[in-house]
Amino acid sequence: MIVYNLKCRKDHVFEAWFRDSATYEKQEAAGALACPTCGNRKIEKALMAPRLSKGTAKDDGPVMTHKAAMETKKAGEVKKALGELRQKIEENFDYVGPRFAEEARKIHYGEADSRNIYGETSDEQAEALSEEGVDFGQIPWVPREDS
Ligand SMILES: [Zn+2]
Repeated sequence: MIVYNLKCRKDHVFEAWFRDSATYEKQEAAGALACPTCGNRKIEKALMAPRLSKGTAKDDGPVMTHKAAMETKKAGEVKKALGELRQKIEENFDYVGPRFAEEARKIHYGEADSRNIYGETSDEQAEALSEEGVDFGQIPWVPREDS
């Protein structure tokens, strides 16, 4: 059995049960469906409100082994955390792009105002910076969810 939200011409929405979708289509085509409120026979499927289930993941979706599920969860959390980190950095740090090494060095030697910056360096630049004792960190940069 399946349930459809149906709607008449006058926007009365009601639920109706059918054996299967073919049964619905047959009855609909035959004009056998009528609105219980006003008797109108122009019936169409209403958009279904999404039904959210509080059920756990084992109720729907592909079945995973416990280990795979844990790993997926962990990867998702890591990605989320990195995404939040990225957002924080973008909000609070000045982007200096490929001039990062230069700017970090200036800040380190007091030639520029101390501020939070982020940008890119080559491996050699990063190595040179750490040899000079410039304090910086590297994080994996995750792509934006919306890109
Ligand atoms: Zn109606």
